[in-house]
Amino acid sequence: MPSPDGAGGPRAKKSLGQNFLRDRNIAAKIVAALRIGPEDRVIEIGPGPGALTRHIHAAGPAQLFLLEKDYHWATEHGRTRPAEPPLITPVLTDALLFPWERLTPARSWKVIGNLPYNVASPLMWDILSTAPGLARAVFMIQKEVGERIVAAPGSGAYGALSVWLQSFVTPRMEFIVPPQVFVPRPKVDSAVLSFVPLGAARGRFEPARLSRLLKVCFQQRRKQLQRILRGYVQEDVSALLTGLGLDPAVRPESLAPEDFHMLSESVKIP
Ligand code: SAM
Repeated sequence: MPSPDGAGGPRAKKSLGQNFLRDRNIAAKIVAALRIGPEDRVIEIGPGPGALTRHIHAAGPAQLFLLEKDYHWATEHGRTRPAEPPLITPVLTDALLFPWERLTPARSWKVIGNLPYNVASPLMWDILSTAPGLARAVFMIQKEVGERIVAAPGSGAYGALSVWLQSFVTPRMEFIVPPQVFVPRPKVDSAVLSFVPLGAARGRFEPARLSRLLKVCFQQRRKQLQRILRGYVQEDVSALLTGLGLDPAVRPESLAPEDFHMLSESVKIP
C-alpha cells in the first residue's frame, strides 16, 4: 500500500478535493464506525494514499474495492497491494458515475470515504438512495454539511439534503475532526457521520417525485407552501393542502420528511 501520508506522491490536487488525513488514531476511529465484519464487501471512495485503506484491510472484510479518480493513487494501490487477504481491487473511476443500484442485497455492502468536499453532497444523495444492498455507510464530510444532514424540521440547517437522506437512512453524527490533522489543512472542521438504511421502515413515496418536489420547495424556502405549489396543481392549492392536514401558510422548512412523502404523492412536479 502507498505511504498513508502521501509522502513521495504528487502534490495534493485541489480540483479533486485532496486533503489527506495524517492522524492514525482518527483514521482507525473512522473505520471502526463502519463495523466491518468478515462477510462485508467494502467500497472505499477516494482512498488517496490510503490513510483509511490500511485500517479497512486490517479489519478483514470479504473484499475491498477502491474507487479513485486520481490516476496516480489508483495505480499506486494496484502496484503495492498487499499479498495477504482480503483482496484489494482498485478501480480508476469517478465515484459519481458508479452504478450504485447494482449493489444488490445478495451481499452485505458497506461504503466508506473521506469524501472530496466538492462532490460529497451529490455522492451521498445518490449512494444512500439507490444502493439496495447497502448495510451501512460512514463518510467524513464538512461539518456544516453534516449538520444539515442530521437537522430537524424548523431549524435553519434543515433543507432538501436533510429530508432526502432522512427518507432513506438514519444519519448519525459520530464525531468532529479538526482541520490540523489534514495536509493540506482545510479551512473548516470536518464531521464523521454514519448511515443505516431504513429498509422496510422506509416511507411510501416515489423517489423521483420526492426529489423534484424538494428541489422546487427548497429553492423558495422562505415562501409559503401554497404560493410555491400554485403553479403545479390544477385545483385549489389551499384546499388540497388542508385536505392533507397541512397548513397552506407553512414554509417548507417546517415540514417533516413524512409530510413531503405524502405531498409528493399528491402533487405532480414535471
Ligand atoms: N482517503 C484519503 C484520506 O483520508 O487521506 C484521501 C481523502 S481526499 C479528501 C479525497 C480523495 O477522493 C482523493 O484521493 C481524491 O483523488 C479522490 N476523489 C476526488 N474526486 C473523486 C471522485 N469523483 N471519485 C472518486 N474519487 C475521487
